[in-house]
Parts: sequence; structure tokens; C-alpha cells
Amino acid sequence: LVVLEGVHKWYGDLHALDDVNLSIAKGEVVVVIGPSGSGKSTLCRTINRLETIDRGTITIDGRPLPSGGKPLAALRTEVGMVFHGFNLFAHKTVLDNVTLGPVRVRGDAPDEAEQHARSLLERVGVGDQADKLPGQLSGGQQQRVAIARALAMDPKVMLFDEPTSALDPEMIKEVLDVMVDLARRGMTMVVVTHEMGFARTAADRVVFMAGGAVVEESAPEAFFGSPQTQRARDFLSTIL
Ligand code: ATP
Ligand code: MG
Repeated sequence: LVVLEGVHKWYGDLHALDDVNLSIAKGEVVVVIGPSGSGKSTLCRTINRLETIDRGTITIDGRPLPSGGKPLAALRTEVGMVFHGFNLFAHKTVLDNVTLGPVRVRGDAPDEAEQHARSLLERVGVGDQADKLPGQLSGGQQQRVAIARALAMDPKVMLFDEPTSALDPEMIKEVLDVMVDLARRGMTMVVVTHEMGFARTAADRVVFMAGGAVVEESAPEAFFGSPQTQRARDFLSTIL
């Protein structure tokens, strides 16, 4: 579904992505881990073209990423993104946050969008918060609203960049539970996270990055059980 071939990205002299080759199948859950600065966020941001690449190709459903205009806007609807900061519109209700994209970008009928939004909010466990402002919700609730907002556009793939890193420990699980549920429903997901429990239970594949390159990729049991590279072993010893 998502294919990166020979992808390079430089920030000045800094080689942020170094020949990344990655193929993500429909329904696959890929967890990306690696030390700070290894290029995990950059990788996510190139897939929805928040960042351009300097060399290589990225395709979604066999089509290269568009560079601008309407095709790019369409791509952004196909690729849902959830960051560690929740990025909700502070002055709009929870419900409006979820219906805005479908109504304004896709032209859905407002009542249809509302119905869909309410069912998504229900599904992520915040159905009773629809009329509140984001600031009135806990961090975990806000992040679940952010997930519902992304899902409202019926994305083909969801990108998560450390979705729980800004949350208090007691709220991490409720967000991870929503993500596990999403994975079980067959969503294609790329998840940058330090939550190794999630990686072990929900990932089909773990991708370990260092210095902008994919250093290792394997099934979670293999990766955690017997990492193949010294870099991966060093990294795991710092976090486990
Ligand atoms: P972290 O775990 O800390 O989030 P990361 O793996 O997500 O790290 P990236 O944010 O992808 O790392 O950054 C990769 C490298 O690119 C880092 O050295 C970073 O400083 C650099 N970088 C990222 N964004 C920019 C930018 N807009 N301009 C210049 N350098 C950047
Ligand atoms: Mg990052």
C-alpha cells in the first residue's frame, strides 16, 4: 500500500533519511523505533508530504505522492496523522473538530458528517464529550478525539508519531487500547512509539532506525528476542 524506495532526505548537511526502503502492506501494523534524531518523525512526515524528499520515490496505492494542489489535499485525506501534541482546534467543540474535515474538505453533508463523527467518538470512548471544548478534556481524551478526527476522513493509512509521549501514564493505556482496536479492524498503521508493550502485541513488524537508515526490520518476537545488530541491542538495553 505504501512503498518507499531509495528515499533520501537532507537538512543541509544532515542526512535525515539515508536510503530508506520500506514496503507496508494493506492492513499491516509497522512500529518504528530508534534513538532520538534517527529520522522517525521525518519518515512519517514524508509519507504525507509534510516534508519533501531529495531522492527516491514514495507511492501510495501505486501512485507517486502528488506535489501540490488538489491531488495533495486528496492525499492528506488518505493519510491520517496523529502527533504527540493533539493539535485540535481549541475554539471548536469536539464534534466540530471531527466534522470539519469531512464537511469542508470532502463536501460531506453536515448531518451525515455529524452522525459519522458521533459514532467514531463513541468508538474511541468519548461519545459523551462531543459538545465540550478540547481544553475541557484530559490529554488521553483529546488524543482519542484526534484519532477520531483522522478516522473521519476514512484514511487508507494512519501515521502515529509518539501518540502517547505527552500523556500521563494512566492515560497512555486508553489511547493504546484504541490503537490496538484499530489494528484489529485491519487499519494500515505506521506507529512511532517507545511503548514496547504495544510493539510486542500489536506490531506485525518492527522497524529499527538509526542515523536516518533502517538498520533492522523483523517480526516483534525476533526483534526483541534476538536483535541482529549491536545498535539495536544497545538501543534496547537503554529502554527495556
Ligand atoms: P525523536 O525521537 O527525538 O522524535 P526522530 O527520530 O523523530 O527523533 P527526526 O525528528 O526525524 O528524529 O529528526 C532527524 C534528524 O533531522 C535530527 O537530527 C533532527 O535534528 C533533524 N531535523 C528534523 N527536522 C528538521 C528541520 N526541519 N530542519 C533541520 N533539521 C531537522
Ligand atoms: Mg520524532
